[in-house]
Amino acid sequence: MNATAQTSTEVRGAAVRFDHVQKSYDGITLVVKDLNLDIAPGEFVTMLGPSGSGKTTCLMMLAGFEPATHGEIFLNDKPINNVPPRKRGIGMVFQNYALFPHMSVAENLAFPLEIRKLGKSERDAKVKRALDMVELGAFGNRRPAQLSGGQQQRVAVARALVFDPDLVLMDEPLGALDKQLREQMQYEIKHIHESLGVSVVYVTHDQTEALTMSDRVAVFQDGVIQQLSSPDALYESPQNSFVAQFIGENNKLSGKVTARNGNLCSLTLDDGTQVEAEAVNIGEPGTRSTISLRPERIELQPSESRDNVVDGVVKEVLYLGDHLRIVMSVAGNDEFIVKVPNGGRNTVPVEGEVYKLGWSAIDAKALDPVT
Ligand code: ADP
Ligand code: MG
Repeated sequence: MNATAQTSTEVRGAAVRFDHVQKSYDGITLVVKDLNLDIAPGEFVTMLGPSGSGKTTCLMMLAGFEPATHGEIFLNDKPINNVPPRKRGIGMVFQNYALFPHMSVAENLAFPLEIRKLGKSERDAKVKRALDMVELGAFGNRRPAQLSGGQQQRVAVARALVFDPDLVLMDEPLGALDKQLREQMQYEIKHIHESLGVSVVYVTHDQTEALTMSDRVAVFQDGVIQQLSSPDALYESPQNSFVAQFIGENNKLSGKVTARNGNLCSLTLDDGTQVEAEAVNIGEPGTRSTISLRPERIELQPSESRDNVVDGVVKEVLYLGDHLRIVMSVAGNDEFIVKVPNGGRNTVPVEGEVYKLGWSAIDAKALDPVT
């Protein structure tokens, strides 16, 4: 992956702008490389990527806890590199709630308002409103330790919002919660975001969470945004095979481009198989490319003629209730996955059997040109 994969869009009057931002902790390695990202007012943008890809570092620079090594960050068009954290007016939520244990829930919420020197009646009104928003109106007098993990995290969300910030940063805020609670909180945070119109920069390594909540998702790898897109564009039109692999499942087939025909192209796979694919990002005929193909877009024993029909040998079959997951050997790839919806009348394939597999050229994305 290289820096040319970086995508940026300029939004006029951006709530947040990273302008050629770099970060190095040791003066040698860049953990954030030439980050350019505009976030519109009211937008929910998620930084998604594997551990160590630089997401938290970006948030820390935006919050003001880490200086940028190079470049400038803007809030509402004002440069903020020299503005201390508490003057940036940003709400924050982190994975380990960081509530004050010796204070009641209401006191925890009042704290950011006291710092901002609001009077008692205004404080009380805002605390009440924020607690009601996360449905904890009756819990103001409890200590954090008297609440469940999910309730504590709701308090943390309320505390980040209580002083009406324009921007809230959330770094893996649901990481400590179990799956069911996490999904419920995803909807709650999304709902609060929609009703308040606040801008949110959210960090997660969980692709489902990113797809569920975000207006746009920035996929990070090694300190570089690989793609910045809406959730559906990220899934349907990945720009390289890292993104295709990170968002959902993906089969890879490698070969050489033989011809380009408009938005499609022909390839010869390494075992000699001829296929048609969408020419998303390829080089000249003769250069190598990797095809990315979703397991659910492949038809087993296609009934009508398809752009591509290839033999596959069954290696393993997993019965997963709503679908069958079949591991096959296809054109030299021994970990080729096919998902077959369970219509109730499937004959379950058996190891060693050979099946025809069919798919549309448009569902096979030719990516990663090697020139
Ligand atoms: P992510 O949040 O995507 O997991 P981070 O931004 O935390 O990634 O880390 C990016 C890289 O920077 C990693 O290699 C990490 O080890 C390094 N790093 C993060 N924080 C510090 C720090 N305070 N000092 C030195 N290196 C750091
Ligand atoms: Mg992190």
